[in-house]
Amino acid sequence: KVRVRFAPSPTGALHIGGAHTALFNWLWARRMGGRFVLRIEDTDRQRSTKEFERTILAGMNWLGLDWDEGPDCGGDYGPYRQSERLEIYRRHAEALVEKGLAYREGEAIVHHVPQDQTVRFDDMVYGPIEIKSETIKDTVLIKSDGMPTYNFAVVVDDYTMDINYVIRGEDHIINTPKQILLYEALGWKLPRFAHLPMILGEDKKKLSKRQGATSVYDYRDLGYIPEGIFNFLALLGWSAGENREIFDREEATSLFDLRQVAKRKAVFDMKKLGFVNQEHLKRLAPSRKLALVEPFWKALSVDASPFDETYLLRSLDLLEGRGQTLEEMARYSDFFLSFEPVKARYDGGDLDETLKVRLRPFFEALTTTERWDHDSMAERARLWAAEEGLKLKDLAMPLRWALTGRKVSPGIFEVAVHLGREEVRRRLRHYGL
Ligand code: GLU
Repeated sequence: KVRVRFAPSPTGALHIGGAHTALFNWLWARRMGGRFVLRIEDTDRQRSTKEFERTILAGMNWLGLDWDEGPDCGGDYGPYRQSERLEIYRRHAEALVEKGLAYREGEAIVHHVPQDQTVRFDDMVYGPIEIKSETIKDTVLIKSDGMPTYNFAVVVDDYTMDINYVIRGEDHIINTPKQILLYEALGWKLPRFAHLPMILGEDKKKLSKRQGATSVYDYRDLGYIPEGIFNFLALLGWSAGENREIFDREEATSLFDLRQVAKRKAVFDMKKLGFVNQEHLKRLAPSRKLALVEPFWKALSVDASPFDETYLLRSLDLLEGRGQTLEEMARYSDFFLSFEPVKARYDGGDLDETLKVRLRPFFEALTTTERWDHDSMAERARLWAAEEGLKLKDLAMPLRWALTGRKVSPGIFEVAVHLGREEVRRRLRHYGL
């Protein structure tokens, strides 16, 4: 039975690289009907906090990466925080000292690394890897403060927690030989190793704070949804097959295969993320969509409370899929909820006085017409423009600017119908139309 783990250090929020690792572990566990273990590696007492642990768990929950065993829910292999397992590390370190494979140096226990061996392993992603043990220095197991080092704790934990697939970032490939020598010293069977390609920023350098958002919460706050981030991260290093770019958790789970993960560099492409997120925004159920967009309207100081659900939903539907994030959806639809952003964007200064005079009677007729629907409006506009020797856009553009404050918007007669007669009149009058 597959047992995998995600082992974050609670020294920061859940960053994109961590989420990516967690996701691939989760996919493999779910695909294989195995168990996904969450282990908190909090031996760096200075930098680890409970608050960061909580944020990491919350970030995983947000992405829908549920775990079967962990510090919050327990399990048969606990405790799941390294700081609560010190006795276990001590015991195994002492055993190595007794076997003569480790020695004491002051308070620290050090692994005596054999000097004449070749360490080999077959990485599921990177293929066969070989390293001469001469290049590895003796490894500290327990530090003088009583805390285990990462390399020792991870081996003891992975073995005692029955982990059979170690799936983690490529930056840990250099640690793997050290860990393998420890497995051998302890007489333990090795797990399979799969190292995941590092996620690089668009400048092909390691993703860093300098490129802006790095934690999954940064992306949530920018208006990306978990379905989009999940899908996008899954595509970094794995492909669901030709022409399968968009999928949900269930589809990804049924298609995923760890053996298909490629070692090519994975570039965090914001354009791709935008596209993937947009596809998932389009698939959102109406009530959820509304609930998700509302905070973004609020952030734009646009008040949705005077409007009913039908009006708000129609406002979003009229975008016809435009907007790659919730933030963009909120921004592109702001004029449906308030005239203020329209006025802020457009002052009417470019309106030609003669054109205004010509347009006024037409807009008067348009807004007093009995039938308030798209087709009759469009027809009227077409006829009037033809009579006046104007192009349709000569009247549609001023109307668009006055109603939305933008050059681009949903169909302008649809917009007018949805805003309602009174509101359309009010806005036209404001611009002297
Ligand atoms: N705590 C380590 C990290 O966050 C875990 C590495 C591993 O999975 O072995 O990088």
